[in-house]
Amino acid sequence: MDDKFHHVALIGLGLIGSSLSLAMRRAGIADRITGHARSARTRAKALEMGLVDTVFDNPADAVRGADLIILCVPIGVYGTIAREIAPHLKPGAIVTDVGSVKAAVIRDTAPHIPTGVHFIPAHPIAGSERSGPEAGFTELFDGRWCILTPIPGTDETALGKVRKFWQNCGMSVDIMTPEHHDLVLAITSHLPHLIAYNIVGTAADLETVTESEVIKFSAGGFRDSTRLAASDPTMWRDVFLNNKEAVLEMLARFSEDLTALQRAIRWGEGETLFNLFARTRKIRRNIIDAGQDTEAPDFGRPHADTGKEGPARG
Ligand code: NAP
Repeated sequence: MDDKFHHVALIGLGLIGSSLSLAMRRAGIADRITGHARSARTRAKALEMGLVDTVFDNPADAVRGADLIILCVPIGVYGTIAREIAPHLKPGAIVTDVGSVKAAVIRDTAPHIPTGVHFIPAHPIAGSERSGPEAGFTELFDGRWCILTPIPGTDETALGKVRKFWQNCGMSVDIMTPEHHDLVLAITSHLPHLIAYNIVGTAADLETVTESEVIKFSAGGFRDSTRLAASDPTMWRDVFLNNKEAVLEMLARFSEDLTALQRAIRWGEGETLFNLFARTRKIRRNIIDAGQDTEAPDFGRPHADTGKEGPARG
């Protein structure tokens, strides 16, 4: 199978779009890259950084003649973008994406994809709290997982090409249903972000502890939550609006478990607390052993030697 694409179109040139361009250039798998972003500033920056060969101020022009189209915009605008690009897609082209929720992305995008064009939804589980074209880096996807959630009737050759594409960008590939993806990500990504947003919001609203104290003493644990809570507000608003059911299901479980912890603290049940904390410590060990994080005590912040982010997210 030929790994190369003659023409790749990136719709959205932020953290993920720019990192994809860099990873494609490293792998030598795209002869030509065109791009589209909403603002003139991002478009100019992408051109200046060499992320794209040509940039367009509307998505329809960017996809004209493309063999592979990758949607890298917030999931709330997928439907609008899909409608705009649909009449300009080349027969036989492949449309894939990077959206953090899959069932809603398929609901909003698939109806617009013309017959003869392949739509293969994807989610690279890699990212950071930073946004924009300057935030991207070549190694973002290295050693991380990309989940493909094919829809019924998917063409096997197109699926194989998309699998190979993500592998060439440095990722391992897994396949699951969109619904299962959304449940898995609700607990591994969406809930941790919600909790981080909430804890940072609570601390900011406290009257008894001042904001300067919260910042001064943040090394006690708070600062690790602030990294997640610094994530892009548009992206995360769209994630919660579009993965409502799975997040609410996981949140219900979480609240039950939190109530149990609350009881254990109230009644001085030290053994309950100790047993849980011992179990959870092992999970972190397993993540390190699986190569999804490092031992570094400053995980989650840029490393002085490489300037790269720590854990994979998305
Ligand atoms: P980002 O850095 O904020 O970039 C978003 C890009 O989309 C920018 O180029 C932006 O253009 C463009 N855009 C926004 N609204 C648009 C619109 N209405 N029309 C056209 N272009 C528009 O975001 P990102 O982190 O790359 O996220 C992009 C996608 O990746 C999201 O769907 C997200 O769910 C998924 N994802 C993110 C992560 C993560 O950790 N960040 C991980 C995995 C997957 P301007 O710059 O001109 O506004």
